[in-house]
Amino acid sequence: MTLFIRTIFALVLLLVVGGAITVFWNIENRLPSISYNEFLTILDKDEVTEVRLQGNEIALKDTFGREFAAYSPDIAALLPKLLDKGVIITGGADDSARIWRLAESAVPVMLILLVWYSLLRNQAADYSESEDKDKHARFAPQAMHKPVTFRDVAGVPEAKEELLEVIDFLQRPKKYSRLGAVIPRGILFQGPPGTGKTLIARAIAGESGVPFFSISGSDFVEMFVGVGASRVRELFKEAKKHTPCIVFIDEIDAVGGRRSSGNIAGGQDERGQTLNALLVEMDGFSTDDTIIILAATNRPDILDPALLRPGRFDRQINILPPDVKGRLQILQVYAQKMALSDSVNLEKVARSTPGFTGAELASLMNEAALIAGRKGDSAIRPEHFDIAKDRILMGVERKGLVISEKDRKTMAYHEAGHAVLAKFLPETDPIHKITIIPRGKALGHTQQLPLTERHAYAKEYLLSRITILMGGRASEEICLSQQTTGAEDDFRQAVDLATKMVCQWGMTDKIGTMSYIRDDGAFLGEQLSRNAYSEETGRIIDREVKTLVESCYREARRILTAEQDFLVYLADMLLVNETLDLEEMEIIYECTAKKRREGASGASGDEKDMACTLSATG
Ligand code: ADP
Ligand code: ZN
Repeated sequence: MTLFIRTIFALVLLLVVGGAITVFWNIENRLPSISYNEFLTILDKDEVTEVRLQGNEIALKDTFGREFAAYSPDIAALLPKLLDKGVIITGGADDSARIWRLAESAVPVMLILLVWYSLLRNQAADYSESEDKDKHARFAPQAMHKPVTFRDVAGVPEAKEELLEVIDFLQRPKKYSRLGAVIPRGILFQGPPGTGKTLIARAIAGESGVPFFSISGSDFVEMFVGVGASRVRELFKEAKKHTPCIVFIDEIDAVGGRRSSGNIAGGQDERGQTLNALLVEMDGFSTDDTIIILAATNRPDILDPALLRPGRFDRQINILPPDVKGRLQILQVYAQKMALSDSVNLEKVARSTPGFTGAELASLMNEAALIAGRKGDSAIRPEHFDIAKDRILMGVERKGLVISEKDRKTMAYHEAGHAVLAKFLPETDPIHKITIIPRGKALGHTQQLPLTERHAYAKEYLLSRITILMGGRASEEICLSQQTTGAEDDFRQAVDLATKMVCQWGMTDKIGTMSYIRDDGAFLGEQLSRNAYSEETGRIIDREVKTLVESCYREARRILTAEQDFLVYLADMLLVNETLDLEEMEIIYECTAKKRREGASGASGDEKDMACTLSATG
């Protein structure tokens, strides 16, 4: 194949050179042209000695031996005049110059044709070359020279935990199918770019030793309608030949974006078809086909709901940027392959890189090594890390990922406020995790897991919930004397709940057990006519909602003020550790309680304080 391409190339080169010579030759031989009027004037002056006729073109020689070219609109009318003047007439269409001129005009066309042809052959060659290796394969399983393992993936403990099961499915599918278990089909990784979604997918394949097919959603989206869909079918046909295996679709949002009915643009149509093909393929596996489809997206919000239905991507795993422990672990993975000087403290590096993703940490390490190399040092030293970090931050800043120290502090106190209240209020869901790692739009996050599925919410539970929601702002005010926009979503949720308590759930005395549905958008008119209330009632509702939220806010402030030492301690630990789970929060509370006791008994607790510090890396 390559020989053929080389031949084509040589031919093209020859033609280019030949063409250039032709053009040059033609320019050399082209006569200066004059107008027909000028020609007639010279003719009248008897200065023309000889003409050569080629169609309507005239080449003439004058008495001074000069040659010109001219164009005659009507040779027939000219002929008698030429004969009359005794001019020598020659001519003929097969003049060599004419042939050259023809060739000249043909050269560009031929060139274009040839280049085009060779390009086409090139593509076909690529295609059939891979076909030699594996029949059909635009989609060959990726060769893994050095399989990625879970040891290469750090800082995502929860995801790894969850995926161990998947590896077992792939290694021993029989064990599960004998029991009648349906092996999960699709797993969706969601998280910002560079958090290691692709790496994890590869590690699953590497750990379970199965073939790995990988494609990006954007590869499916072609200009021509139907190409994407046929590629999907092709991919799955190939995958089915290699079961058990893993198919990884990166950027699935490129094909799996919500299908909007109103859009009639071609791209949309193509995407819809591709998505449909994907859905059909996913539904069409038999239970024996152990194919696990992993997909990654950083825009889960725009995915078509059809993709998330049971039997498709019904498992979703969040992959977030790592916290300080995770960052340290990732740095350690890369440090193994690098020559670090003893003075480098990776824990310090991890602490100074809040918000960095795995990919950014990897490039931080690499950048530091490059800088050390350029300076001719034999090992990477702390100052190299400082320069590397600045360099990476310049790139990151544009993405708006960097969190200032002040913002981190705000987030820590805000989240600690929610968490302290969740601990002390009655009837609340236990805390699962507090974090100040930003995820998407929301800054920090306090996760509460409901113990049981609650269907009927008690008034006390709802009041606690509103109070917890007010805790973020309350904590910021008490500890930092500031009000920030961070509480926006909290307030919206709190007012929503309070409004429902007043209007729909009959939980306040002034309104009593009535049901007034307040505007919730679409069918406003209809609802108003069903549950109309007077202006007077409207005012009472407003006042009741306000009273409710305000009393919850007062309660939040009361508790937080009483527990301020705990609140501050918790926020400080959150600043250091970035995430805390329930257990760690309990330890911090124990320490606070101990300090209080010591304070009451008058003992100085300075030494004992040390024992109470949570290790950031532990
Ligand atoms: P994503 O698919 O989420 O955009 P990638 O998996 O492509 O991210 O990550 C890019 C690179 O960053 C990886 O090849 C790896 O070198 C590094 N990386 C990202 N996350 C991690 C991690 N958790 N542990 C180790 N390396 C990571
Ligand atoms: Zn909040």
